[in-house]
Amino acid sequence: MSRSAHPAGPRHADVLPEGHYSAPPADLNALDPKVWSETVTRNQDGVLTVGGIDVKRLAEEFGTPAYFLDESDFRARARAWRTAFGDDADVFYAGKAFLSRAVVRWLHEEGLNLDVCSGGELATALSAGMPVERIAFHGNNKSSAEIRRAVEAGVGRIVLDSFQEIVRVAHIAQELGKRQRVQIRITVGVEAHTHEFIATAHEDQKFGIPLAGGQAAEAVRRALQLDGLELIGIHSHIGSQIFDMSGFEVAAHRVVGLLKDIRDEHGVELPEIDLGGGLGIAYTSDDDPREPHEIAKALTEIVTRECDAARLTTPRISVEPGRAIVGPTAFTLYEVGTVKPLDGLRTYVSVDGGMSDNIRTALYDAEYSVALVSRSSEAEPMLCRVVGKHCESGDIVVRDAFLPGDLAPGDLIAVPATGAYCRSMASNYNHVLRPPVVAVGGGEARVIVRRETEEDLLRLDVG
Ligand SMILES: *Cc1c(COP(=O)(O)O)cnc(C)c1O
Repeated sequence: MSRSAHPAGPRHADVLPEGHYSAPPADLNALDPKVWSETVTRNQDGVLTVGGIDVKRLAEEFGTPAYFLDESDFRARARAWRTAFGDDADVFYAGKAFLSRAVVRWLHEEGLNLDVCSGGELATALSAGMPVERIAFHGNNKSSAEIRRAVEAGVGRIVLDSFQEIVRVAHIAQELGKRQRVQIRITVGVEAHTHEFIATAHEDQKFGIPLAGGQAAEAVRRALQLDGLELIGIHSHIGSQIFDMSGFEVAAHRVVGLLKDIRDEHGVELPEIDLGGGLGIAYTSDDDPREPHEIAKALTEIVTRECDAARLTTPRISVEPGRAIVGPTAFTLYEVGTVKPLDGLRTYVSVDGGMSDNIRTALYDAEYSVALVSRSSEAEPMLCRVVGKHCESGDIVVRDAFLPGDLAPGDLIAVPATGAYCRSMASNYNHVLRPPVVAVGGGEARVIVRRETEEDLLRLDVG
């Protein structure tokens, strides 16, 4: 098993045993609607289209590699989350999954709130007109300058992550003559991952303040004493790419236990509880994610049940999906450069991008699907490994995939479900130029984040 840590929390890899391949799909030309966005289909010529525009035209106009984001799919998912949770709960989109000014505007229009976790994300949100009270500021080591900017701007909440930060935020707020609304992020000893979760007494990770050993209770005690802070709730985020709701059940039980202790000790019922994000999506046909309305129902029931048992007024719930909103809305389009069969092993298919536009395979052993999209093919399936152009043998985009045996240089292939944690984690390794994000919607394709240029690179390198 990989022990890689997700930046958001516990480990996150999806690991198959060595030598495990699923059988080739019955039809290599089929596009599983689970992994492709809403408007993706093949036209009569077998070419994949998104929002009615075919990928050959998109490649000509925007080049490859490039991310194509299905705007109506994004809006539909954002709306589904918003509707599922209704007016008694808040949905915060986790900006770190993918943030751009267009996305901020869509979220605003669809009635969602926004999580940011750096000065850069905050600046992006503010510059696109997200109402500041709908922004939450996260992170385990926010700088004093970032905190000052957030408090000055008037963010709706800051999620406190350490004892030092409790004092730091309180001081800055007081200096600015403000009282900052805050939540305290606690770790409840639940490590949730895909189909399993582990409940322990302790949690070994950098985020949050442990519930264990009375530390979270002590953090609450301190926060309640400081004039610069208005403590509005407790925050818990248990993992990522989660399909099984039972981890949330244990987490909610433990968070509500803390709320009860707070009521008993201080006579206050905190009005909010944030259960974080981490809901899974389909990267391959093997994944079966839940719909937002099922998740909303499950989470609301869990919290209500726990609060009833503790005789607490049910607090206002918030959730923070990132991947579950943006992940399935985009695919990455690549051009095949070389096709290298290795006898008795597999065929290496090299594309014009790689770990610089999708680090998740290298970082977490993440699984992806891939399809030939510039044409259909009746050729026999061949077992492939789709690799990038970087000077690194771990530069793998899709570890094991079946592509048609007649695949050739110049073909376009696409990897679906790359909307989350791909562009936002992109790098300039080997001085490659980070790809553009092109939004497709309303019969049009338009660049929302442009491709990097060599001038961009050289501008940073001051000689
Ligand atoms: C990363 C993160 C999220 C979003 O996680 P997804 O897996 O994209 O849903 C939500 N909340 C917090 C605190 C995070 O760190």
